[in-house]
Amino acid sequence: MRMIVMKFGGTSVGTTDSIDSTAKIVAAAVEGQNQSAGVEGRPDQGSESPGVLVVVSAMGGVTNTLIDAAQAAAAGDETPYRDARSQLLVRHQVVAGQLIEDGVERAGLGRLFDNRLREFERLCRSITVLGELTQRGLDVVSGVGERLSAPLLAAVLRANGVKAQFVDAGELIITDDQYGNASPLMDSTPDRCRDRLLPMMQSGVVPVVTGFVGATEKGVPTTLGRGGSDYSAAILGAALDADEIQIWTDVDGVMTADPRIVETAQSMEELSYEEVAELAYYGAKVLHPKTVTPAVERSIPLRVLNTFNPSHPGTSIVEKTRQLHHGVKAITAVRELRLITVAGRGMIGVPGIAARTFDAVARQRANVLMISQGSSEQSICFVVPEAEGDAVIEALKIEFARELAQHMIEEISNQPDIVIVAVIGAGMKGTPGIAARVFNALGEQDINVIAIAQGSSEANISLVVLQAEADEAIRAIHDTFELGNGAD
Ligand code: ADP
Ligand code: ASP
Ligand code: MG
Repeated sequence: MRMIVMKFGGTSVGTTDSIDSTAKIVAAAVEGQNQSAGVEGRPDQGSESPGVLVVVSAMGGVTNTLIDAAQAAAAGDETPYRDARSQLLVRHQVVAGQLIEDGVERAGLGRLFDNRLREFERLCRSITVLGELTQRGLDVVSGVGERLSAPLLAAVLRANGVKAQFVDAGELIITDDQYGNASPLMDSTPDRCRDRLLPMMQSGVVPVVTGFVGATEKGVPTTLGRGGSDYSAAILGAALDADEIQIWTDVDGVMTADPRIVETAQSMEELSYEEVAELAYYGAKVLHPKTVTPAVERSIPLRVLNTFNPSHPGTSIVEKTRQLHHGVKAITAVRELRLITVAGRGMIGVPGIAARTFDAVARQRANVLMISQGSSEQSICFVVPEAEGDAVIEALKIEFARELAQHMIEEISNQPDIVIVAVIGAGMKGTPGIAARVFNALGEQDINVIAIAQGSSEANISLVVLQAEADEAIRAIHDTFELGNGAD
């Protein structure tokens, strides 16, 4: 049985119309799979096993609503969660009312929505009573959206003649207890997935699985990080050794830049795992950064497709691209960052300052996105998320208290409101002069480059610019390399 995983993001299931489109796309895929199985001379298997697994995110905006309500509850404001409960009930029921004719099915769904949202309200009430929102509590609340949208989509699929069944990923994806950013345990997850899903699929059923969520071995709900449904699809695809993982979204694939910033950005036909991993890690929201890992391990091709333009071929992501591409393919950016500099003439020749700096940073569990060390050895600078900046500065001041008092280290300074702009393309490796062209493009626009790093991967040149100049920088680089003109 050829097997495909189809993941639909919040943008693909945000409204009645888009859920309708999603259901039609899945129904067509099931039909296509059945036909090709028939052509291959396996009608016995083909008719029974469409080999399609669906993963779905919460309806667009729902996760934010849930999180905001829980945070307000912790601060003592009960209005947002009460409003959210009734608003979410209506929003899901309206779709069910418009797309599902069967009264029994609709009533069942109505009860399910009501129960889940009552549970959400109960949780928020206890958050208010405790006056505290733990990461563990937040994971229960933020996963509610997928636990509403997946049963809804399964029922809409049934209304479209597809045998579909809702499955909660808490039964499939077993994770560690890093709430808010959990990682799957790969010794138990693949077996769970196969045991639960393969019999269903072999009997001709399309499982509709909640994206984003998992559970610990003890069954405590976890989430895989914001935007994590892409990662869910890849985990499930790898566990089942799927033939393709499809990410259905609201643009024609992975584009040369964020289309909201660069109007002329265009979709790319093909990318390597390496390129897409860099793009995702450096801010291209279209794919969760961890999505590539499970796919790479099993060499499963990924494809990014548009729910609102399903005949477009989208972007195919493979191990090795067919055509050698010389140079830059795409530009992306990570925002809300802070640049921290440890500087002083007393650092020269003193071993271990860099190691101590990064030990102190690691103790804060801060994520270092970029490191740049001047040739002079007088300073080390690195970039961390804005939210982690204060804790890192404090940790460094404690670590280097003696050096600061003795003026061996003169300052630990920080610059807020900066952005890393990443210029990406595997073909940059052997192509000289790219960095110079990037700098020229920025120089012409009077954009100041605060720091540069090349090295985390040869497919990436990263530079730090001020937040206020970031969009202009992206557009200038995109123009210089003529990425919007079909110069692929
Ligand atoms: P979904 O709900 O399908 O998961 P997301 O909003 O998470 O969708 O991701 C899709 C969005 O990512 C697009 O609408 C686009 O605005 C944004 N985006 C940012 N960078 C890129 C890029 N390089 N290519 C495509 N889309 C991008
Ligand atoms: N619904 C989750 C979020 O908004 C997961 C996802 O959309 O992929 O982060
Ligand atoms: Mg997404």
